[in-house]
Amino acid sequence: MNGLNTKEMEDRYELPVYPRRDIVLVRGKGARLYDDRGREYIDCASNVGVSNIGHAREEVARAIHEQYLTLGNCYGMFYNPVRAKLAEKLTSLSPPGLKRVFFCNSGTEAIEGAIKFARASTGKTEVIAAMRGFHGKTFGALAATWGDEYQKPFAPMMPGLKHAPFNNFEKLTEAVSQQTAAVLLEPVQGEGGVRVGDKSYFRQVRSLCNERGILLILDEVQTGFGRTGTLFACEQFVEPDMLCVAKSLAGGIPMGAVLCSAAVHVPVKSHTSTFGGNPLACAAALASLEIIVRERLPEMAKTLGEYFLKELGAIKSNRIREVRGLGLMIGIELKEKAGPYVQRLMEEGVIVLLAGATVVRLLPPLVITREEIDQVLSIMREVLA
Ligand SMILES: *Cc1c(COP(=O)(O)O)cnc(C)c1O
Repeated sequence: MNGLNTKEMEDRYELPVYPRRDIVLVRGKGARLYDDRGREYIDCASNVGVSNIGHAREEVARAIHEQYLTLGNCYGMFYNPVRAKLAEKLTSLSPPGLKRVFFCNSGTEAIEGAIKFARASTGKTEVIAAMRGFHGKTFGALAATWGDEYQKPFAPMMPGLKHAPFNNFEKLTEAVSQQTAAVLLEPVQGEGGVRVGDKSYFRQVRSLCNERGILLILDEVQTGFGRTGTLFACEQFVEPDMLCVAKSLAGGIPMGAVLCSAAVHVPVKSHTSTFGGNPLACAAALASLEIIVRERLPEMAKTLGEYFLKELGAIKSNRIREVRGLGLMIGIELKEKAGPYVQRLMEEGVIVLLAGATVVRLLPPLVITREEIDQVLSIMREVLA
């Protein structure tokens, strides 16, 4: 033993890239998390939208266990029945025009893939993303992600990425050129402050893309798998040419995917991934999707989200500027810095997220109960009073 506790070890032996909170989480169940002192928290973060089905689900645990003992890895050059089944399942659950899938291992990889597929499919080079958008931190995705905080230390950025203000169709039109291969948007901006897209804006963008031969890529890494009240948020907006998913796709096991329309063509061998579509992640995803459908989690997110949003909106506090959201993706914009409130809420047993300096973001597991939401509300009323 080195005599160090968990925090000391992580601080000493890892690169300090995460802004840390001062607790050690060791266990989870449903919408609850527990620290190393046995203290219980209500999870309103879901690891930034990973744990939609809740923590420690038996069905997923069993699927992973059995799959690992059967065949844990299978490179994409070989066919595999679990991967086949998931590809069929995902394409059948997603909008009708999305007929094929590319499997990868994370959100940023799904975006990398989509940007590369857009270039390969159109022969054009530029992608327009939105200001305040977040798409990941590898070089292609990073160029699409908004903000000096993320980009500046790693300059220069990959060329070809432009930004236009979100929900502003005129400005987007101005950014389009002969070289525009794709427009890349989140239906609800997560990191950017829980900003819900305008449906009319998305319809206009869809028509523009059709007219100009531009591919529309929707980043549903955070909004996917029931979060906003439908399995994919795009069902409430428009159908994309590429749909990027990850986070809660495989019930907490790393996995990403790009669902693609017939407009997407990629030469064989040009873009692959060693772990992409590995049977372990595929088995976890199948078990997780089964839960999402059987327990009607998108519907739960819709009704519980409406209730949560209404009750939060009714809190009388002159610290709150606005409460907004879609389904169980909720932002509370304050008139001051939100960091201290995130800390206070944690001390009171509720784990929430920041989204920019002034927004408290709530992304609870979709299995959260109304009683748990009421508990969160009563703590919120106290902390925000
Ligand atoms: C988290 C996130 C990503 C990046 O996913 P990683 O798995 O962390 O690479 C991309 N887009 C959105 C909208 C996200 O929320």
